[in-house]
Amino acid sequence: MSDKPNRQRFATRAIHAGQQPDPTTGAIMTPIYATSTFVQESPGKHLGYEYARTQNPTRGAYEACVADLENGSHGYAFASGMAAIGTILELLDSGDHVISMDDLYGGTFRIFENVRRRSANLDFSFVDMTDTDRIAEVIKPNTKMIWVETPTNPLLNVVDIAAVAEVAHGGGAKLVVDNTFATPYLQQPLGQGADVVVHSTTKYCGGHSDVVGGFIATNDTELAERLAYLQNAIGAVGSPFDNYLTLRGLKTLAVRMDRHCENARAIVELLLDSDKVTHVLYPGLPEHRGHEVASRQMSDFGGMVSFRVAGGAEAAMRLTTTTQVFSLAESLGAVESLIEHPGVMTHASAAGSELEVPADLVRLSVGIESAQDLIDDLGSALERL
Ligand code: PLP
Repeated sequence: MSDKPNRQRFATRAIHAGQQPDPTTGAIMTPIYATSTFVQESPGKHLGYEYARTQNPTRGAYEACVADLENGSHGYAFASGMAAIGTILELLDSGDHVISMDDLYGGTFRIFENVRRRSANLDFSFVDMTDTDRIAEVIKPNTKMIWVETPTNPLLNVVDIAAVAEVAHGGGAKLVVDNTFATPYLQQPLGQGADVVVHSTTKYCGGHSDVVGGFIATNDTELAERLAYLQNAIGAVGSPFDNYLTLRGLKTLAVRMDRHCENARAIVELLLDSDKVTHVLYPGLPEHRGHEVASRQMSDFGGMVSFRVAGGAEAAMRLTTTTQVFSLAESLGAVESLIEHPGVMTHASAAGSELEVPADLVRLSVGIESAQDLIDDLGSALERL
């Protein structure tokens, strides 16, 4: 997508990009095309759709919308964030090396280390990418991909996308950025040098805890062709209903993100004041070591807040069971506030590895409820701890 002077702003594009009123009825909402196949006039002569694994009009509208929001020329939707991540790994050849981070979503670590290392003979290094110089120490002639999550799940570390892009491209590698936490509303990695952006759209893009999905966006035509091929060849696509739900969720992404960010700030204030909390991990804090980079590459700091609790693992786990408005559950990025213990829940797959998370860590996905109700709820749970 070109940055034309009359390009509409994010909140408008989130509602309209890729979507036209239905040509046959005028319906303003993109229909759910629940069909597996499309009738052809003669063999090979059709209206652009052959078989729904390959193309579906609901998915097409959704793909155009997210690609537009990421300032990408191409977008591909998947049945889950992991399906998107797995498909990106298929861009590599046996024996290729990937540099990723020592703080990463547990499921991403799991597919790298426990699945593709064995089944695809890929090699992975996990380094602290908040220090860009660390990448140069592990880059090898067969390093073909650098994989960044920023901010990270669950420690909220921040990586300088432009600086890593320079190192990646200097070494002939592609840069992939998992933009799940920031969303395209707060951060557009393709404009900062990333070759591929990946999302778990299960999170903020969908935004309502009612759909699992993933997305890949790129501006690189060669990669796009290969990704389209892989999307169809592997076939890990979501249903038209899933695509519809996410397209619908995106319409309010801008307003939801503003509220998530505002509520997260209020919760951070509460945590900073509590003597039950030993560390607050949130890139909006001036003392956060990624604050300067986050201020440069993000338009706000997001709705995720992690913190460490005095009293260790037992206190952290007890806290997660005593809130009323914050629900104890995995996942993040939806309208309702969630609390979880990463060590036992989302990041259990990293236990015993170099990516193991602190046992006294609690992660919050701050929702868009009344900030005062969230403060009252978490405040009283902390007091009772
Ligand atoms: N990337 C990040 C940062 C995540 O937090 C998650 C899931 O929590 C994923 C990818 C995987 O996405 P999904 O659960 O939709 O497969």
